[in-house]
Amino acid sequence: MTPEQRLAELAIRHAALAWLDQQRAKGKEVFSQADTSGVVLAGQTMRLMPTQQGIWKPSQLQAALSIRTVYRPEGSTRPYDDAVGSDGLYRYKMRGEDPDHYENRALRSAAVARLPLIWWLGVQGGGYSALYPIYLVGEERTALQFVVDISAVPQPDIVWPAAELDLDPAYRQRLTTVRLHQRPFRAAVLRAYETACAVCSFRHGDLLDAAHIHEDAQGGRPVVTNGLALCKMHHAAYDRHILGITPDYEVRVNEAVLHEVDGPMLRHGIQEFHGRALMVVPQRRSERPDKPALDARYQLFKAAG
Ligand SMILES: [Zn+2]
Repeated sequence: MTPEQRLAELAIRHAALAWLDQQRAKGKEVFSQADTSGVVLAGQTMRLMPTQQGIWKPSQLQAALSIRTVYRPEGSTRPYDDAVGSDGLYRYKMRGEDPDHYENRALRSAAVARLPLIWWLGVQGGGYSALYPIYLVGEERTALQFVVDISAVPQPDIVWPAAELDLDPAYRQRLTTVRLHQRPFRAAVLRAYETACAVCSFRHGDLLDAAHIHEDAQGGRPVVTNGLALCKMHHAAYDRHILGITPDYEVRVNEAVLHEVDGPMLRHGIQEFHGRALMVVPQRRSERPDKPALDARYQLFKAAG
């Protein structure tokens, strides 16, 4: 790839990432094939997602633009045997058995030219969420896989202390896994709750979180039944055991906080929800919060009170 070609590649990729930023700013978390087709980037119309296989190189580009991993329920057969290595970097399987298949060459070109790519991750319930920018930082030919670095993906919700990563490979490995699952988890949970806080039904997507019931740090799984869509206020209150949720989907407020006297935020935002049912639960029964997980968390709330 000539330096001029590389600059052209970067211009189109930056336009693609800016387009995704705009979509996310509008609250869009889940993308379909159709959503990402016919996008105009730096004057060229293209598709951002592969239709058939996992690797996508638009005809206008010299190198691959995106990769895709379909959603796989835990315990099912995996279409790709991808995994996080002990170095905290992800492995993405090559197409087929030939490292020089044209799709693998397209990925190699992106690695050599250090071009940013988009990773489409399947969301529970359908569609894909976009993880970007990601970089391919190497390949392991005998294992037929590329090495993927996702540390440039902005994710303000999780702690990512770069300085300590070198000290503890296991920690780095775990953080990569969390980072990878966070966005599709959020997308799946917000879809299931129709972008509304379970406690108060507040509907501004940018002020909503996908909270874990069994906490992430304690090994909670990134599945919808282990999630709750909560506004920032109720998420923080839930994490600090100011607010609890019973296995019967009712809200409880910490005894001391319940009797505190403060302004309207405390009264209307917290105290008035005590004893009420959750305002929003997923339509599909199979996506509603897992009762044993809620109960375990509710016991922690009671013990903290
Ligand atoms: Zn709320």
